[in-house]
Amino acid sequence: AKARRRGSSTCFAPEHEAELRRHADVEQALRRADLAAEFHLLYQPIIDVADGRVEAYEALARWNSPTLGSVSPADFIPVAERSGLIRDLTRILLTKALDTMRGWPVERRLSFNLSAHDIAGPEGVDALTTLVVASEIDPSRIVFEVTESGLMRDLVDARRALTSLKALGVRIALDDFGTGYSSLSYLQRLPVDRLKIDRSFISRCTEDETSLNIIRSILDLCRHLALDCVVEGIETVEQKRLLRSVGCRSMQGYLFQRPMPAEAIAAFDAASGPG
Ligand code: C2E
Ligand code: CA
Ligand code: CA
Ligand code: CA
Repeated sequence: AKARRRGSSTCFAPEHEAELRRHADVEQALRRADLAAEFHLLYQPIIDVADGRVEAYEALARWNSPTLGSVSPADFIPVAERSGLIRDLTRILLTKALDTMRGWPVERRLSFNLSAHDIAGPEGVDALTTLVVASEIDPSRIVFEVTESGLMRDLVDARRALTSLKALGVRIALDDFGTGYSSLSYLQRLPVDRLKIDRSFISRCTEDETSLNIIRSILDLCRHLALDCVVEGIETVEQKRLLRSVGCRSMQGYLFQRPMPAEAIAAFDAASGPG
């Protein structure tokens, strides 16, 4: 079986080989990285379009590697997960984010992405709980975003983990909603407070009736299940208008603001909101 796999052209197609090499480079640089010094967070606002106020900022990780330059989270998160470094990275990033929050108005929330690896097993949740408690930030101001795909492997464990996080007082958002294979059974089985509708539906909604109808159906679902709903990846005024007309209030995307450094938040806050 091994020989057959070796001989198969799909496994060793040149583009695949290049990708493997890239992965190995990223992994090597990551193992050597000074996580606290090389990684930082950018923040992107989630806006309530009814009054223009910022509801929350989502923290998005960035890596400035001395050897590789800037690496996208789409590249380093999966590698950090596979190499077992994700928990250290998450701990460092969450500490930074909670520290940044100290300067924010109390009604402002933080939305923070977790990997399924971060909450696997009881130690995962314990580590997160310790950080949140130590920060003395009101947990109700924290939203942890998890993706459906990540939780698929062990739904029972995921349910246990999210339930104990919720007991702490934080909220849970299901990210990239609609892209997994069993979105609805997640809603049935996981204690979720909000959904973030995947960008792929938003990017097509002005040209494609089906995408818009899927968004409409998810909004209905949210109403019936008393869930908040966020649409992300809003890039155009047309998208914003259309989504508002079907009942979306919480929006995120380049149209409003690209992810920005923590230092830029105060100025953005001052310029947004009613009036
Ligand atoms: P995500 O959580 O779905 O985050 C949204 C991504 O869409 C971000 O990409 C954001 O910069 C980008 N985005 C926001 N508005 C727009 C828009 O209007 N148009 C387009 N085309 N893109 C938009 P980013 O920062 O490259 O992050 C990619 C993914 O990496 C995230 O997807 C998330 O899954 C993961 N990620 C980022 N930071 C962290 C982290 O601290 N921990 C973990 N576990 N994952 C993270
Ligand atoms: Ca997210
Ligand atoms: Ca998303
Ligand atoms: Ca995503």
